Amino acid sequence: MTLSQGCILCHQGAKMVLFVTGRCHRTCWYCPLSAERKNTDTVWANEHPVDIPAQIIEVAESMSALGTGVTGGEPLLVLDKVTEYCRMLKEHFGKEHQIHLYTAKAPTDEELAALQGLVDEVRLHPPRECWEKILESDFLRSAKRAKEMGFDIGIEVPALPGLELLIPALTHLDFLNINELEWGESNAYAMRERGYDLADPLHNAIDGAKAWAEELCRHEKVHWCSSGFKDSVQLRERLKRIAQNTARPFDEITDDGTVVYGVFEPASGSTDAVSPFIRERLEPDSYEIHPERVEMAWWLLEKLADELDGKKYVIERYPNGGMVVEMTPL
Ligand code: SF4
Repeated sequence: MTLSQGCILCHQGAKMVLFVTGRCHRTCWYCPLSAERKNTDTVWANEHPVDIPAQIIEVAESMSALGTGVTGGEPLLVLDKVTEYCRMLKEHFGKEHQIHLYTAKAPTDEELAALQGLVDEVRLHPPRECWEKILESDFLRSAKRAKEMGFDIGIEVPALPGLELLIPALTHLDFLNINELEWGESNAYAMRERGYDLADPLHNAIDGAKAWAEELCRHEKVHWCSSGFKDSVQLRERLKRIAQNTARPFDEITDDGTVVYGVFEPASGSTDAVSPFIRERLEPDSYEIHPERVEMAWWLLEKLADELDGKKYVIERYPNGGMVVEMTPL
């Protein structure tokens, strides 16, 4: 199996996802974009909305990113933004910072020229109606030109019936990625309309999607990216990288890449009175005092619990102030 360089880094959780626009010229029924992102021009670096470009570098640094995947929407609708951000990333991290670009357009020679030296790998998403005549499509023409111009070139499509129609394109590509078709808030109606159902109640994968890809997956250059892999390995590895860079000395990093710490909220509503006690009893790098709460190693909070009057709980969350996974009262 041929894995693209972009996929190799993604497996390590070392790829930042840079979402440059929610606008798109297509209306694919299976589009996975959330209502929050669709048709907006907000830029997202991983799950952080970006107000100024420098924040993109901050997010990439927080996870020690070795590469970036540029996606949307349709990134080529905002080509200037794409070139600006990619140039910034290459200048900051060096040209070895690997960048791949997703597009559902067949890029023109001018668009490819603008991306040269900034994007390493182009992933074309030809819509389903092109597959029957893929060799005669603009996508194949773009793929050949991209190859001549020095890009790594591949196709990336969701698993849909008819994937085997793409077999003739393989000789012109470096790789072909199939993403397991996924149920989402914005495509649920279209999924139901087509009679599709979830493979199991715990994941978003669609029943039967794997079988549609079976024939194509026999080929060397084809890579199957499962929904479960994205949810577990890819996310977990990325969280671990972020946790290693951002965890405080008293945060415990779990095997899932989340962080765990204890929180004490004094009954008085202020930490003024309790601060001297905390400073006397704990090592300086084992706690952090905020105006209304003290955060500390969870095992220290457990030890001191009887001596503290107020709300006490252990919190597990994504690193760097991310989503709360669990709160356990003490
Ligand atoms: S091309 Fe991609 S972003 Fe655009 S509608 Fe289709 S799936 Fe959504």
